[in-house]
Amino acid sequence: MRFEWVWRSRRALRYNVTARRLLATQVATQQLSKTRNIGIIAHIDAGKTTTTERMLYYSGYTRRIGDVDEGSTVTDFLPAERARGITIQSAAITFDWPPKAPNQKDQDLPTSFDVVPRSSISHNVNLIDTPGHADFTFEVLRSLRVLDGAVCILDGVAGVEAQTEKVWTQAGTYQIPRIIFVNKLDRVGAAFSRTVKEIGVRLHVWPAVCQIPWFKGGDGDFFGVGDAVNLRGMLWQGASDGREINAFSVRDLEKTDASFAEEIKKARVALVELLSEHDDTMVELFFEHDEDHLAIPGFHIVQALRRVVNQTPQTVIPVFAGASFRNIGVQPLLDAVVDLLPNPLERPDSVVSIENRSSTLSELLACPSAPVAKSKSQKSPSSLAVAEAKNIQACALAFKVVNDTKRGILVYVRVYHGSIDRGTILYNTNLQVAERAPRLLKMYANDAVEVDSIQTGQIGVITGLKHARTGDTLIVYKGLSVKSQPSSGLNSLQLRPIHVPPPVFFTSIEPHSLSEQKNVLDALAILLREDPSLHLSVDEESGQTHLAGMGDLHLEIARDRLLNDFKAKARIGKIEIGYRETVTTTTSPQVYNLDRTIAGKPAKASIIASVAPADEIQPLVTEPVKEKEDGEKDDEDPYTTYFPPTTDTDSNPLTIHHPSLSRFLESHPSLPPTLPPLTILTSLRTGVLAALSRGPLASYPLSQTHITLTFDASSHLYPETTAAALSMAARRAVLQCIREANEQSANALMEPVMAVRVFVNEGSLGSVVQDLVSVRGGQVLSLDSSESPSTSTSSSSSFTPDSQQFLINPAKIYAPPDPFTSSDLTHSTTNTTREIVARVPLKEMVGYLNHLRALTGGRGTFVMSVDGFEKMGKQRQKDVLEAMREFG
Ligand code: GDP
Ligand code: MG
Repeated sequence: MRFEWVWRSRRALRYNVTARRLLATQVATQQLSKTRNIGIIAHIDAGKTTTTERMLYYSGYTRRIGDVDEGSTVTDFLPAERARGITIQSAAITFDWPPKAPNQKDQDLPTSFDVVPRSSISHNVNLIDTPGHADFTFEVLRSLRVLDGAVCILDGVAGVEAQTEKVWTQAGTYQIPRIIFVNKLDRVGAAFSRTVKEIGVRLHVWPAVCQIPWFKGGDGDFFGVGDAVNLRGMLWQGASDGREINAFSVRDLEKTDASFAEEIKKARVALVELLSEHDDTMVELFFEHDEDHLAIPGFHIVQALRRVVNQTPQTVIPVFAGASFRNIGVQPLLDAVVDLLPNPLERPDSVVSIENRSSTLSELLACPSAPVAKSKSQKSPSSLAVAEAKNIQACALAFKVVNDTKRGILVYVRVYHGSIDRGTILYNTNLQVAERAPRLLKMYANDAVEVDSIQTGQIGVITGLKHARTGDTLIVYKGLSVKSQPSSGLNSLQLRPIHVPPPVFFTSIEPHSLSEQKNVLDALAILLREDPSLHLSVDEESGQTHLAGMGDLHLEIARDRLLNDFKAKARIGKIEIGYRETVTTTTSPQVYNLDRTIAGKPAKASIIASVAPADEIQPLVTEPVKEKEDGEKDDEDPYTTYFPPTTDTDSNPLTIHHPSLSRFLESHPSLPPTLPPLTILTSLRTGVLAALSRGPLASYPLSQTHITLTFDASSHLYPETTAAALSMAARRAVLQCIREANEQSANALMEPVMAVRVFVNEGSLGSVVQDLVSVRGGQVLSLDSSESPSTSTSSSSSFTPDSQQFLINPAKIYAPPDPFTSSDLTHSTTNTTREIVARVPLKEMVGYLNHLRALTGGRGTFVMSVDGFEKMGKQRQKDVLEAMREFG
C-alpha cells in the first residue's frame, strides 16, 4: 500500500512541474480544497493518542492498532512520552481520508455538495499532534496557530475538564473551527448527556448533538451510535477492529429498538431547531420541507453544520460520540473532519508583525512599492507598509523542531505564502540568519516521503537546517544569498508571534567531566531548538549552567530527554523555583574603563552606567514602542535608544544614550568600518544582559531593573575598541553598579505569583478557599459558580474574560437521557461547580494537585499560569534564603 502511494506522489509531482501554469494553479487549488490541517485538543488521558492511532489504522497507514498502555503507538514516539503515556512533542502526520483504493486516481471535488458529501472523495489530512499537559501550553499554542480546524476530545466520564477549557479558549483566540468527540462512552460512569450540558455551560457554545450513544438493550454495553444527521443507527461489531459497521435506518429501528429510534428523531428535531437559529438557509429548508424536521435531507444538514462551524466566533459545536479504545465512532468522526472543518483556502488571512506593528499577510504582500521606509518626516501608517514586501517569495512558520534518531533534526513547517522548494535559501527572521533547505519531506506516521516543494497551505518537513528553532519565521526573499539579509524592515517579520511568559523553575546542569562538556552543550542546544520555552544560561564566572522552564514537569521531561535520549553524561540538580532579584536604590552614573587583552588582542572601551529600580524611573526621552495606532515612533530621538522591558529580558528596561551617533546611520565617519552604530548598540546590550543574569544577593537573575548607559563616541572610543570590548565593558560596568546598589541598600527577592483557577464542588468550596488563603498566602479574587458571569475585576490579563463568551442555559440544551444516572444529576453537577480565581505564590502551589484532590474527594481540578513576579515580604524573603542555605 505504501509503495503504491510513493509512486503516486512522484507521478503527481512530475505532472505538477510540467503542466502549464494555469493548469498548475487549478491543480493547486483542487489540492488545497482537499487538504485539512487539523489538530486534536484534549485534556490529558481523554484519549487523544488512542483516537489518533485508530485514525491512522482506518486510513491504512498502520497495520496494527497501537495501544498507549503498551507503549506501541506511533505518535507518542519519544521514549519519555511512552513511559508516561502522554504526548509531549507535536508532530504532524499525513494520511488520506477516506483511504484511496489501490491504483485509484485523484478525484476532483464536484462544484456542489448537494448530492455527494465531501467525505465521499479522498482528502489529504495533516494531523498535528498537540500536547495535553498544562506545562506545555506553549507547545499547544505553537501547534494551534498552524491549525485550520480542531477536534476536541472529551472524556465521557470526566466531562469538560479545567485544562480543556483553557485550550478551548486559546483555540478561540486563533478562531479555529472545532468539533467535539465525546470519548470513553463504554466506561462505567460515562455520562453523555451531562457532558453535552457541560459543553454549553463551561465552553459557552451551543452543542449540536449529531450523534447519540447506543447501548445494547437500552442500558447494556455501549455498541454504536445513533446518527441524527442521516437518521440511522450505526452498529460496530463487537470484538473486531471496528472496520465493520452495520447501518440501520430509523424505519428499521422502529421495529427492533423503538425507543432508540424515537430518540434519534428527537435528536434530529433538536438539531434542526438549533441550526435554524444560526443559519438562515436552514430556516428556508425547514419551510420548503413543510416544517418537517425529519424530511430535510442529511446532506443539507451537513452543509448547514459546516456553515455554522466556520462562523466566527463559533457559537455552535457539532458533537459526536464514541469509544476509540473499543473502536467505536472513529470513522464517522473522520468523515466529520472532512465534511465540516475548513480547508486552508477558507481560513482568514494570517497575522504578521514587524517590530510590534501588525497587519495581515496579504495586506503586507499587496503593499504598493512605497518610497523609503524610514524617512523621518513621514508618519508611518498603522498597517505595515514595507516596500520590500514585494520581494517576499515565500513565508513559512517552523512550528516544531524534532530531533529524530534516524533522520536528524526535522523542522516541521507550515507554508503561508508561495512555495518552499528544495535548495531554497531561507531567511530566519528570529535568528537573523540565512540557511539553505537541503531536503524536504512529507511525514506519514513514522515514514517519510521526499518531495520537491511544500506549497502554500501545506505542512511538511525540512531536514538539514542548522539553525531553525520551534516558532521561527522563515522567509524566501528575492536576491537573498546565504551571507546577505533582507535590506530592512522585513528582517524582523513575524508570523503569528506568541507571547511566552518567563520561566519560573530551573535546575543546574553539571557535566561529569570537562571532556563531556561539549556533548552536553550540544544536546542542550538541540533541546532548545526543539523547545525555545526552555532557557539556558551559562555563568561566565562560576561556570554554572542553568536550565530554566515553565513548570516542574517541563524540566523533568527535559532532564529525561537529556539523560536518556541524548545520553548526556551530566549531573542534573533538583528542580527549584526561579526567584529574581531587583535593586532597591538608584546609583549615580559612573565611568568604567576597560583596558585588557581579549583573545590575545588589546581591547579598550569606556562606558558610563547607572541602575535604578524600574518602577521608579520614567523613560525620559522615549516611550516604549507599543502597538500604537500611529507612528509616534518616527519622532524618536535618534541619539537615545530605549529597549523596553520584555519577558525575554526579565522585564529589565535599558536606555542607551549615544550622543552624536545617530542610530539611523549605516556608518559614521568617526567609527571604524567594523563598528557601525547598530553593532555598538547590540554589543552593549549583550553585555548588559549578561550582567543581569546573576545578582549579588542570592545569584538569581535581576528583574525590573532599569539600566542606563552612555556611550559617547567622542571620548569613549579608542583604536582598540571592538564589539567584544564594548560588550565586556558594559557587562563589568553594570555588574559594578548592581554590586554597589546592593551594598547601599540590599536587593529584594521577587517570587513568581500564579494566576490560579480552581474548580470544585459547592461542598468543598469553604475548605479549599480557606486553604488557599490562610495556608498558602493566596488572594482570592472571585468566587463564581460556573453558570454566573465572571465577576472578576482584576486588571491582570490572565483573568480577562473572553469577550465572546456568553451564557447558555443548560435547560435549553438537547441531550438524550443518560441510562445509568439519575435524571437530576445534570442539575447537581453543573449547577454546583464553583470556580475560585486566586493569585497564589508559586512556591505554595508546588504539589497542590494532590492536596486539592485530598480536600475535594478527588473531584477538584485547577489550572494556573504565571501572573508576574512580586517582591516578597521581609520575613518571607528571610525564610526562603535560610531554607536555601540549609539545603543548598
Ligand atoms: P491521551 O492522554 O489523551 O493521549 O489519552 P490516551 O489515548 O493515552 O488514553 C488514556 C487512557 O484512556 C489509556 O489508558 C487508554 O487506553 C484509555 N482510553 C482511551 N480511549 C478509551 C475509550 O474509548 N474507552 C476506554 N475504556 N478507555 C479509553
Ligand atoms: Mg497521548
